[in-house]
Amino acid sequence: MIRFNDLVIKEKFGHIKIDWKAIDKVVNDTYGDRLDKPVFITPDNRTKTYAGTHRVVRNTVKRIRGMEPSFMVKSKSEGFYHLIKLAGHAINFFNRAKDIPTRNDGWRIPDFYDTELLEKHGSAGCILHLIAHEMQHAVQVDETGSNKQRNLEFFSTAKPSEFSKYYRAKKEELDAEAAARFYGPKMLKAYYEEIGEPVDFNFDQDSIVDDTNKKEYNQIKDMYAFALKKELKNGK
Ligand SMILES: [Zn+2]
Repeated sequence: MIRFNDLVIKEKFGHIKIDWKAIDKVVNDTYGDRLDKPVFITPDNRTKTYAGTHRVVRNTVKRIRGMEPSFMVKSKSEGFYHLIKLAGHAINFFNRAKDIPTRNDGWRIPDFYDTELLEKHGSAGCILHLIAHEMQHAVQVDETGSNKQRNLEFFSTAKPSEFSKYYRAKKEELDAEAAARFYGPKMLKAYYEEIGEPVDFNFDQDSIVDDTNKKEYNQIKDMYAFALKKELKNGK
């Protein structure tokens, strides 16, 4: 059960050029089977330092505005739910920034997404990348809700040198960001399909890279092959 806070999204971010229904659909399609516990995703204007946060909420009695009663019931029976907050400042930035596709920030989004995909719906790509990062934190602790022993499925294949200092500082951050680089582009592609603008895109297209990012391309391709093998093993 993955729920977006439709009420708050409509109120505060309804004007944004992102199809939230399509975002909801691709996130559910991607993570529905991977997570046991319920997930609530909500924009939050009080989150100032981070672009997004994830935490486990055990006090399921305290309802967040916009949360459906059925979500509360499910969370109570499961023992906890995952709360993912997307910072309002980040959502607004993604919406405003026309230069995201070429901007080389800490996330290095241009290095891991097809340029064509970013050109038309770059802001949706950034939101999906952020969600993918936070969702991986949910995956890491989904079984127990405990931070003590995290399931870090992408950590072993991630090359630390390809990540900024922030992600290198903690294993779970590196794992989450490596997962975002894998699932983000996949979800952006699914987003295009969902809004009726399907594109022909996969990681094997040599045309998507030039020599300057050939190294990253090869590394991400390895990671892609690894995750694909894993998916096949899990029968997906
Ligand atoms: Zn993180």
